[in-house]
Amino acid sequence: MSTDMEVYRRIHQLAPAVINKIAAGEVIERPASVVKELLENSVDALATRIDVEVERGGTELIRVTDNGEGIHPDDIELAVASHATSKLHSADDLFAVRTRGFRGEALASIAEVSQFSIRTRQSDQLNGIELTVQAGIVKEPRPCGCPTGTTVEVRQLFLNTPVRRKFLKTPGTEFAHISEQFTRVALSSPALHLVLRHNAKMVYDLPATGTLLDRLRMFYGGKLADALIPIEAEAGGIRLWGYVAHPSQSQSSRKGQYLFLNGRWIQDRSLQHALGEAYRGLLMVGRHPIAFLFFEMPPDQVDVNVHPTKSEVRFLDSQHLYRLLLSTLRTKFLTLDLGSGYGLQTKDSETSPASVNPHQVREAQQELVRWAEDKLAGWKPKEDLSDLEAKLDAIEAETEHSTEPPEPPGQADLERQADSSTISPLPLADVVHVETPEAQHTPASQQSELRAMQVHDCYLVVATPEGISVVDQHALHERILFEQLKSRMLSGRMEIQKLLIPVTLELSPREAALVLEQKSSLADVGLIVDEFGVNTIALSGYPLLLRRADPVDLLRASVEKLESAGRKISREELTNSLLAMMACKAAIKAGQRLQPEEIEALLAQRHLIDDSHHCPHGRPTTLRLSREELDRQFGRLG
Ligand code: ADP
Ligand code: MG
Repeated sequence: MSTDMEVYRRIHQLAPAVINKIAAGEVIERPASVVKELLENSVDALATRIDVEVERGGTELIRVTDNGEGIHPDDIELAVASHATSKLHSADDLFAVRTRGFRGEALASIAEVSQFSIRTRQSDQLNGIELTVQAGIVKEPRPCGCPTGTTVEVRQLFLNTPVRRKFLKTPGTEFAHISEQFTRVALSSPALHLVLRHNAKMVYDLPATGTLLDRLRMFYGGKLADALIPIEAEAGGIRLWGYVAHPSQSQSSRKGQYLFLNGRWIQDRSLQHALGEAYRGLLMVGRHPIAFLFFEMPPDQVDVNVHPTKSEVRFLDSQHLYRLLLSTLRTKFLTLDLGSGYGLQTKDSETSPASVNPHQVREAQQELVRWAEDKLAGWKPKEDLSDLEAKLDAIEAETEHSTEPPEPPGQADLERQADSSTISPLPLADVVHVETPEAQHTPASQQSELRAMQVHDCYLVVATPEGISVVDQHALHERILFEQLKSRMLSGRMEIQKLLIPVTLELSPREAALVLEQKSSLADVGLIVDEFGVNTIALSGYPLLLRRADPVDLLRASVEKLESAGRKISREELTNSLLAMMACKAAIKAGQRLQPEEIEALLAQRHLIDDSHHCPHGRPTTLRLSREELDRQFGRLG
């Protein structure tokens, strides 16, 4: 054996610098991790105001200043020593953690891989004290003048770990991560005055507020805030509260889902799944709910020490939490009558055209909703919790293997769909591609099974082999049109209705510029626009499928969509929102009397769309009542 090998075989204690670097690797992944740890320290120090300043996405400088209780001068060196904390005394305390931090690793880790300085003063001290650490080398502490509280400065992060520095993304991306960390703290602590600056520019200045709702309004604006549904529940020593958004407000990712446990932001797949389940059938495929939910529970019910950054936790009874969340949301949605889409006062007047008395329509809708609610009473969770739990168990079991709703129907299915629209008199030129009516493609057997009746000129009540369905005529038609438009757009076969005389619309200079800028996106969705004199836009063609709609109305609404979308929206999101708007405009309205053939044609198409339970706005199209349920309600079953 060579002596070299001997060296390998001997065990030795790693130097503190090496330990800290390893720990830093776990805790400090990027500038945002530093911001997170420093913010948590300031929160733990009971600060009421925290200022965060960063330069170049935090790669040059991160400075966090708080007005918290500060550090005693005798403890300053301990603050940056590893495994030194004021928040934990014995191992037992690990299961009674009430502070954000407790591992005593953060400052030591950060100081190991940066030029670090901390200045702090407690209110009863005359002087402050300052300590600097150069890439792990601790300098002598020095007295300094400073206000009560603590300022930590971190420069040149990862200066001595070149690989990690190289892996940093652009300052913009790094700043986005920082902003997200900042948001989490801002949402969990509305009473904190929080400020965030990037490259000396103010990004957020959030004054202290009494309520979460106020803070959400500051962050996300009134539109989302107005669509938030308050949630409140308590069971088995666990309190759940917060807000979830009405299904009309959803996102294409889960980024709008914030979960907090005892004030700490957490990530939890099981709870996210429960959230998704609660909205099942209320959102379109690929859309995710927005939620801000807070769980409060005794610290001994959860282990927060399973992840270096404490963002994942282990619950003693995660099933209980899953059920609490799912059942609370489901029950809430039922009481709000989201199932029929009129639970919240939406400002959306698109469904009631000017020619119909909106009051009458609302009356009619409410009457039907009451009727359906009566019938649906049997579906609502009973007081008897065991019954509810059993149902939830069944739901869980059923969804275990199908966490995602089915894919939308294939191209072939959509192409086979009939188009029941009647042609309205318009100055029409040549039709680029004329379709033959294909209603006869619907199997005769299927047609004979459908016995439908229109009620209140708004809903279709259909006897189905399974029971009864109540269809919202507008929502269903809108959905069908949306799918048809989308499939034609994706396949590049959007049939255009050319206008003999183009319709023109005068716009503001800004709007006109926006329209011309998005000319090709508009062409994608079948709207053929051109410049027509100063600030005037001409529409010379629009989708054949939408021939019921008023082209001027379509153009005007498109301009509004472009305006509200802004320039940052992706092309896909933009075209989707345009298609949804057009489908809504062209669809049969609530309050419109339909001929039996029209009813039949509309219902015939519904079987061709798998995902026909909700319209593009996220409202459901159909309420179902099973035969079994009917029998049970009328006491026909033992
Ligand atoms: P932890 O937060 O896990 O205790 P840290 O390394 O983040 O570990 O901080 C070490 C100690 O330094 C803390 O326990 C706390 O006593 C003190 N400290 C850190 N930041 C601040 C601050 N902003 N205000 C007051 N004390 C602080
Ligand atoms: Mg800490």
